[in-house]
Amino acid sequence: MRKFIEKIQIAFVKQFPLLRLVFAKLALSGIRYNFGAYLYAGAICVLMIPISIFEKIFALCTRRVVIGQVGIIVTSRCTLKCKECSALIPYCTQPLNKTLNDILNDIDILLDVVDYIYVVQLLGGEPFLHGDLDVIIDKLSSSNKVAAINIVTNGTILPNKKVITAMQNKKIRVQISGYPKTLVKNIDGFIDILKLHNVKFNHSTSLKWRHMGDRSFKNRNNGELKELFELCTSTLCNTLIDGEYHICPISGNGMSFGVIPKNATDFVDIRSLPKMEARQSMRKFFSRKVFSACNYCDGNTIYSKIIEPAEQVITPIVE
Ligand code: SF4
Ligand code: SF4
Repeated sequence: MRKFIEKIQIAFVKQFPLLRLVFAKLALSGIRYNFGAYLYAGAICVLMIPISIFEKIFALCTRRVVIGQVGIIVTSRCTLKCKECSALIPYCTQPLNKTLNDILNDIDILLDVVDYIYVVQLLGGEPFLHGDLDVIIDKLSSSNKVAAINIVTNGTILPNKKVITAMQNKKIRVQISGYPKTLVKNIDGFIDILKLHNVKFNHSTSLKWRHMGDRSFKNRNNGELKELFELCTSTLCNTLIDGEYHICPISGNGMSFGVIPKNATDFVDIRSLPKMEARQSMRKFFSRKVFSACNYCDGNTIYSKIIEPAEQVITPIVE
């Protein structure tokens, strides 16, 4: 029954970008991982359907490009090395070397190409390791094309004064991944700082991870790739990395870090395409269900094995 409700919700959320904002808010309010929460979320989903259908038809008629949720990778550096990191950070052999200007430029291009984004996630690695995070936050929060910004952190790095000020914007919420205290020793101090400065946050203490397989080639046919794609919830977090708009972090980071083969047909290169072509490519991109990246992954689905979060890689992979 629970799996059935989850499956319906995933299908709806994939269809209607507006629902991603609703679910992001529900997830950030800490209700995600219990049965009652799923029923509650399902009821909200049903209530939102008429509005979402209207929005979808309006977007189709006006050819608007609307994004439900996109993660922007601000750094590939991290303070942890989680074995099952869905961003593949410990397996990064070609670290991102982006200047602040590169990131701001990509944000400018993205905001020029699309009409609206419900949720932007600022991701790493560990985003608080980025020395100019406040500038990135200010840039996004000042845009009237962005509804909400989540900063996803493991809580190991205390934000500086400039970042705290930037995070006081009402669009911002800090999403703290609830890793064991043995890994994140200063988590209480981190939370105290956010509370002291009235920064909105959620600490996901009931965090569960799913095993997404290894990165070997799986030799799936198009039908199998499509089936996996339909079930995979990671498709709800598109990824912008180095000017490339990807379906998920495994695709974006995997290709960028050299962990899976790069396939230019899997992403939209927003840096090199003229605006109207980029818009056209984005529309096509959102109607696709077959991606080569899904041949190097088992997806994040309701059938995937639940695993302990944040198990650390014992032998360092990247020297
Ligand atoms: S904290 Fe772990 S899961 Fe998060 S980015 Fe770092 S290595 Fe990946
Ligand atoms: S199955 Fe495909 S969409 Fe899902 S996480 Fe893997 S690569 Fe991404």
